[in-house]
Amino acid sequence: MNTVTRPRILVVGAGFAGVECVRRLERKLSPDEADVTLVTPFAYQLYLPLLPQVASGVLTPQSIAVSLRRSKKYRTRIIPGGAIGVDLKSKVCVIRTITDQIVNEPYDYIVLAPGSVTRTFDIPGLTEHAFGMKTLAEAAYIRDHVISQLDLADASQDPDERASRLQFVVVGGGYAGTETAACLQRLTHAAVKRYPRLDPGLIKWHLIDIAPKLMPELGEKLGGSAQEILRRRGIEISLGTSIAKAGPEEVTFTDGRVVPTRTLIWTAGVVASPLIATLGAETVKGRLAVAPEMNLPGDDGVFALGDSAAVPDLAKGDGAMCPPTAQHALRQGRHVADNVIASLRGGVMKPYVHKDLGLVVDLGGTDAVSKPLGIELRGLPAQAVARGYHWSALRTNVAKTRVMTNWLLNAVAGDDFVRTGFQARKAARLKDFEYTDAYLTPEQVRERVEGAARRE
Ligand SMILES: Cc1cc2nc3c(=O)[nH]c(=O)nc-3n(C[C@H](O)[C@H](O)[C@H](O)COP(=O)(O)OP(=O)(O)OC[C@H]3O[C@@H](n4cnc5c(N)ncnc54)[C@H](O)[C@@H]3O)c2cc1C
Repeated sequence: MNTVTRPRILVVGAGFAGVECVRRLERKLSPDEADVTLVTPFAYQLYLPLLPQVASGVLTPQSIAVSLRRSKKYRTRIIPGGAIGVDLKSKVCVIRTITDQIVNEPYDYIVLAPGSVTRTFDIPGLTEHAFGMKTLAEAAYIRDHVISQLDLADASQDPDERASRLQFVVVGGGYAGTETAACLQRLTHAAVKRYPRLDPGLIKWHLIDIAPKLMPELGEKLGGSAQEILRRRGIEISLGTSIAKAGPEEVTFTDGRVVPTRTLIWTAGVVASPLIATLGAETVKGRLAVAPEMNLPGDDGVFALGDSAAVPDLAKGDGAMCPPTAQHALRQGRHVADNVIASLRGGVMKPYVHKDLGLVVDLGGTDAVSKPLGIELRGLPAQAVARGYHWSALRTNVAKTRVMTNWLLNAVAGDDFVRTGFQARKAARLKDFEYTDAYLTPEQVRERVEGAARRE
């Protein structure tokens, strides 16, 4: 513990978990009790569940990027960059700033909330050709990419090229993949009316998953309803199927089918941020193993939560861990702030307990399925619950107003099909968007920290 100055609390990641934690620390701690610092590559908190609606153009990117500097009351020091390693022994976090400077940031308490990255497998061509749906840049890129496929197919005289540009493959039948396929299919379905030279019958969306069901959390009947809605809209669903290989102009499914396509969207799950591996601590399926109080047993002042941590799910019991959802992440954010404060003031930390409130799945337009508190809803009531839930969970009134205005505008004026071209000709691999190759190994972290200590 640093005794000369105030205790330093370092929060890594400004997502659901990190921002909730920081705001509560600011509220509950007096300025002379501790210094709070936040490391984040972006100046906003991203409301990820609405990302598919940005990809489909229903919402503008800015409406789901909630500013971290909205209020004068926010007194946290923000370091613009990403943590690339943590040395638990010396209590130093190594940070790469957005100008690529490497700095060592010492802490007394660290709260790790860097979230997750897209989970990939060793499938030939996957990391070179697949797009993810985890960042604002990816959603904006995919939107431009999909519209450009229509533009290019329209201009082409080659039937093979047209066919491959008008087929789209989404891998992953969880809520992220299902909502992405549903929202983008609506976009192309509406857009094709503006392309009189294109045969709408050529547009085909595939949604595939290795599991036998889409979104098994919804249960048999509601999951079946979601599937039925998508099939009715012409989305071809293939279950028990994955990708055997991916190329620039075609994708081979594990059942042997070769689908000509230039669009492979990969949403087959997430894994904890690579930052967690730099700690060299115990993990559960890649997530940092923490106690129910969200602290790292045996390491004073280290906390982790959200998608990057394996937090025991005490409400479920049976050794279950909390699923990687926004619902848990934001509640854990508040809870971990209380535990950090308890630990700082010599109080007692409390275990995290939250009973899942259910699931909402927006399939675009009036199509939706929801299961709030176990009640199964379809159609408009489900959509009202889905949008009402997301709307109320947005942090600021400005974000709420932006989202509501966008929804109303879309309902009245319909979609627009503008291709911005901002990211045209840029590399678009998963690692380019998610910076997964930026991290140090545990040995490199130690070397950096020891090297800096020797120079001081
Ligand atoms: C398309 C999609 C739809 C979803 N729909 C739902 C839904 O309907 N309901 C639901 O409950 N959940 C949903 N989720 C899951 C939910 O968004 C996540 O579980 C939640 O965001 C996890 O919160 P978190 O704070 O742990 O991570 P995040 O919200 O991802 O935040 C992590 C933050 O850390 C930053 N960061 C990353 N690495 C570093 C680093 N090295 N240093 C510093 N900062 C870093 C990131 O930029 C980000 O700001 C969805 C996810 C996706 C992708």
